[in-house]
Amino acid sequence: MSRFVRSASERRESEEMEIRRRPVLNNDLDADLGMFDDTVSCLSDPHVFAPPGTPQDGASDEETNIDSENIVGEDLDTLSLPQRAADQAEQLMRKVLDEAEQAEQLVLKVLEEAWKVCHFSSLPQWLQDNDFLHRGHRPPLPSFSACFRSIFRIHTETGNIWTHLLGCLWFLGIAIYFVVQPSDWIQWQEKLVFATFFLGAILCMGMSFTYHTVSCHSEQVGRLFSKFDYCGIALLIIGSFVPWLYYGFYCDFQPKLIYLTVVIVLGIAAVIVSLWDKFGTPKYRPLRAGVFAGFGLSGIVPAVHYIYMEGFLSAFYNASFGWLVLMGLLYIFGAALYALRVPERWFPGKCDLLFHSHQLFHILVIAAAFVHYHGITEMAMKRLTKGECHEVDHSDPIVTY
Ligand SMILES: [Zn+2]
Repeated sequence: MSRFVRSASERRESEEMEIRRRPVLNNDLDADLGMFDDTVSCLSDPHVFAPPGTPQDGASDEETNIDSENIVGEDLDTLSLPQRAADQAEQLMRKVLDEAEQAEQLVLKVLEEAWKVCHFSSLPQWLQDNDFLHRGHRPPLPSFSACFRSIFRIHTETGNIWTHLLGCLWFLGIAIYFVVQPSDWIQWQEKLVFATFFLGAILCMGMSFTYHTVSCHSEQVGRLFSKFDYCGIALLIIGSFVPWLYYGFYCDFQPKLIYLTVVIVLGIAAVIVSLWDKFGTPKYRPLRAGVFAGFGLSGIVPAVHYIYMEGFLSAFYNASFGWLVLMGLLYIFGAALYALRVPERWFPGKCDLLFHSHQLFHILVIAAAFVHYHGITEMAMKRLTKGECHEVDHSDPIVTY
């Protein structure tokens, strides 16, 4: 009996404990389910995470539960959230870097616009070319757009840039006018011969203008474009010789061929010397002047040959010797000013912006090129009005008029 009573009371206690435990278990389960629901709602939010197969808006609860169970089953909740966080962090970092880059470009642009001319002593060594020019130098501008915008600012290179920019455009205009003339007035041979001169002048002044514009970009760019500048001078000399030799020895085929060959060989030699790294350094300024002056003065040989053949009067009347001599004097004068750095040597710091030797040299080059154009035009007109060459001897390849 007592055993029955004990076991009955034990059973009752056990039932009461069971009843007391039920809400606790239910609460735990509800809490677990609540956490699960939170996870599901987070996973199913397309703005937070949307892996393939995740139910989107409009999916039924059942589908959501099934898919969620699958997702949970694949442990995507533990794998994808860190991945998502990493993606977001990466995007944020990219955005920050983009904005930093934009800010840097803005600062560079402001600095490019805000540069001030400086004293010779403030220049880096690679920009220190002429110590007789004291103030008004461009600082290094390591951007081509800043260099080209500096064309419109006042500094030591402004005059050098504009003289040859305008000279280049002037000869380009004349060349176009010349080439488009009707062929019954100017034949193609004449156009071709004159084109070599126009090309030499346009390339020389175009390369010079470009060099003076970008010379402050960096040491490498300055050195490279200074080589182009010197090559341009060699091309102008070649281009100046060609029409004069063509019309001067119009009917003398052999000397014409020899002189043209020599001029082209000397021109190539001048280009090779120009490409030598040290050629552009201040130390070799007299050598530069000497190479180009010597190349130009080599024209004395065919000139003497012409006088010997045709006489002094014919040289001046038919071969534009007057213009040729004037052209030579202008070039020699320009090269002398360039080599001696006159007048700034006599007035240090007084010719920084205007009338320094390089500007005068540029103006003299334009003047000399124009004088030469006038001379060869006159020569061509006189030669062409004489008619064709008269052959004296068919066995002799040299024809004369
Ligand atoms: Zn120059």
